[in-house]
Amino acid sequence: MPDEGVTVITTTDKHNVTVTWREFTRFLDAGKGSQVSGISELKKYFNHFGYLSIPGNDSFTDVFDNELESAVVQYQQKLGLQVTGKLDTDTISTIVSPRCGVSDSPLKMHTTKHFTYFEGTPRWEKQPANLTYAFSPNNMINYLSLSDIREVFQRSFSRWASVIPLNFTEINDYESADIKIGFYGGDHGDGQPFDGVLGVLAHAFSPDNGKFHLDAAETWSIDFGKEKSNEAIDLESVATHEIGHVLGLGHTPVKEAVMYPNLSPRMKKVDLKIDDVEGIQQLYGANPNFKMSSLSESENSSNMGVGLKFTSPSKWPSLLVVVVLILLLS
Ligand SMILES: [Zn+2]
Ligand SMILES: [Zn+2]
Repeated sequence: MPDEGVTVITTTDKHNVTVTWREFTRFLDAGKGSQVSGISELKKYFNHFGYLSIPGNDSFTDVFDNELESAVVQYQQKLGLQVTGKLDTDTISTIVSPRCGVSDSPLKMHTTKHFTYFEGTPRWEKQPANLTYAFSPNNMINYLSLSDIREVFQRSFSRWASVIPLNFTEINDYESADIKIGFYGGDHGDGQPFDGVLGVLAHAFSPDNGKFHLDAAETWSIDFGKEKSNEAIDLESVATHEIGHVLGLGHTPVKEAVMYPNLSPRMKKVDLKIDDVEGIQQLYGANPNFKMSSLSESENSSNMGVGLKFTSPSKWPSLLVVVVLILLLS
């Protein structure tokens, strides 16, 4: 199934991650070589997200072995953490934070410091370049209005459409839509069961599958002013991230980027960053109306949901500063 990059992790069906990730905090500073009760669950987690393969005898042991250490190293590289090979505080707190369900690395483990693609670099080839999307009539949530949800997705799609020569149109006919969006709970038939509150938030499949699923168990929010829950997840941030997958982007280790796998509760991250834009433009080309210089403003706007702005090229100097900073920091 080369057209579904994330299906790589469906081989773990019988090893579903059922423990609450928060329990992994007890593995803080666990030492290599030792027997650590329950650490096989952490191995399943790493297996689920593409860092460990299932052993020959089909079951993970509770030994902190070499394979686990190298999984930790790869995870730290992929998540932009300091590479120590140890279950240090930063690493554990990243492991337990809510995230996207898409595997970080289908098969091969490239150590890139930027955007990635699915195995085989699939993209939408449809011409004209107009993709349709629709909401599943039977799989929506009722505490947010459909019109509010539609606006969220319209904004999310338009962010991507502003940087590449691709259009998105909402249609009513769910069956014929290219991109099929819905909220699902638990096992919902695609081999990627959702896990309840927090943990995995959503997943989407690579081109040209079009499946876009959100975990119905989350407390989805459009406005943190109205939704006070400590576990509230910003729908627009997740929508923008998953559209990146629908279009063919994998995860990036760049923490500020939309395609970073983790998103904390009550965090809003909707503006495409340079890494996101470069990744998607290498796949589809650039929208002629888009100027990379317009990113400088949102790059400095710390997730306030400003969105991309079409500004004059006078912003180049500040963009250069940002680029130089990124180069220095990388
Ligand atoms: Zn993702
Ligand atoms: Zn699904």
